[in-house]
Amino acid sequence: MQFDLLLKGGRLIDPASGLDAPRDLAITNGRIAAIDADIPFERAARVIDASGSIVAPGLIDLHSHVYWGGTSLGVDADRLAARSGTTTFIDAGSAGAGNILGFRRHVIERSKVRILAYVNISFAGIFGFSHSVAVGECSDLRLCEPRETVAAVREHADVVVGVKVRSGRHAGGTSGIAPVDLALEAADQAGLPLMAHIDEPPPGRSEVLPRLRKGDILTHCFRPFPNAPVFASGAVRPDMRLARERGVIFDIGHGMGSFDFEVAKAMLKEGLAPDVISSDVHLYCVDGPAFDILVCMSKLLALGMPLVEVLRAATQRPAAAIARPHLGTLKVGGVGDVAVLRLRSGSFTFVDSLGAALVAEQRLVSDGIVIGGTWWPNEAADDLSDTERFEAHARHSHVEVAARHFGHSHD
Ligand SMILES: [Zn+2]
Repeated sequence: MQFDLLLKGGRLIDPASGLDAPRDLAITNGRIAAIDADIPFERAARVIDASGSIVAPGLIDLHSHVYWGGTSLGVDADRLAARSGTTTFIDAGSAGAGNILGFRRHVIERSKVRILAYVNISFAGIFGFSHSVAVGECSDLRLCEPRETVAAVREHADVVVGVKVRSGRHAGGTSGIAPVDLALEAADQAGLPLMAHIDEPPPGRSEVLPRLRKGDILTHCFRPFPNAPVFASGAVRPDMRLARERGVIFDIGHGMGSFDFEVAKAMLKEGLAPDVISSDVHLYCVDGPAFDILVCMSKLLALGMPLVEVLRAATQRPAAAIARPHLGTLKVGGVGDVAVLRLRSGSFTFVDSLGAALVAEQRLVSDGIVIGGTWWPNEAADDLSDTERFEAHARHSHVEVAARHFGHSHD
């Protein structure tokens, strides 16, 4: 058999199947055609040298904002895909029932990379979000209409994976817990999971978390004080343990204001690693502190999470959360979405949402991705050395963060 594409000589890590071994991987007609210890060069029309690299399922960013041009916070998914190893972006409620058709027609259907979406319980989606504008989409309950949400879910069932709600005083003003209850009712009626964002209380996590069902997602799970999942002592709050036992999915959703190294250290120390690592990438954090899913994964790696678990949290777990397990694994006959990654050694300074720095000796970088069988190299791999990029960010982030602390954007 002749193959279209051969990734040769890589270390294949597929957490879902438990495989971590040197393997060649061949793709034909957009599907994985063979995984073997040695597939000869001459059997493929195109060969990519993956020696020294990790061949993994294409990364799935469970929380991103990619309604580019249609919302102020949207980034261009196609521009970010190869750089971040991402083959599937899940947009977390940028669009609501009132504008998901535009998102679908103008972005999802035109993108080379795969895009799926949570529909916002708010009819208008996230419509007022920038450094200087902050009008929460749940601050007027007239916008939270479960019937409209369920109708949109059904009309776009092929691309919709759940319902999104942003609760908290920034996203919901004085609405309290009501947006969460309305979103839960819509999710129940639609038969899909709910992704719940928390920011600053009210409502606090202690009101939101007990409402979430098995398979629902708490995003911003490692957010800083106030509304952090740990006490000041570092002890994990009991409602987090109860939620994990019940099967609520903990998702990082790093973003601009939602990841705290100290919280992450405390959670990991007590055995509560995140289920899913996502970036919450949007226009106001794509140049730091979140950057993209690979940077977020590198931070968890630097905090001591094992490489295979970091990869699992960006492949198998998000695929399960969206009930599309075939996207998060590498199987013969399966979809040909692959990430070719490298562990680069050096000195890298990572920064969290509070401006705290963490120095690491390695980070993940992307050589490129395969989407639907087509090789898509990361052209930007050597634009700026990683050390320069992170140190530049670390230098000016302290100034920015001071301003941000008293600002109003908390995603
Ligand atoms: Zn978000």
